[in-house]
Amino acid sequence: MVKVVPPVDNAKVPLTKPVEGVGGKTGLWRTMYKPVVDSSKCTKCFLCEIYCPGVCIVVDPVKGATINYDYCKGCGLCTDVCPVKAISMVPEE
Ligand code: SF4
Ligand code: SF4
Repeated sequence: MVKVVPPVDNAKVPLTKPVEGVGGKTGLWRTMYKPVVDSSKCTKCFLCEIYCPGVCIVVDPVKGATINYDYCKGCGLCTDVCPVKAISMVPEE
């Protein structure tokens, strides 16, 4: 089970952005399910942005979480750490 620890100060957490590597964009690894954010539930807590191993979620303080599918691998970790279950894994179309 994942233990969620809220950040002390979101503004001071250093984050990087994904770039295309020699194997292409990591979103190509995602084959079955993708995460979808229900913005009506999102509380802008930033946990999904911090815990996403692909660094492909950005949380806007007003608009909430958005996912960069070019780099999302579909691991589902964001669904586990979201405290209000605002992210669901849905089948790829
Ligand atoms: S499924 Fe994994 S890679 Fe994709 S946004 Fe969620 S935590 Fe990041
Ligand atoms: S973890 Fe959930 S509530 Fe928090 S910013 Fe991400 S989607 Fe929104």
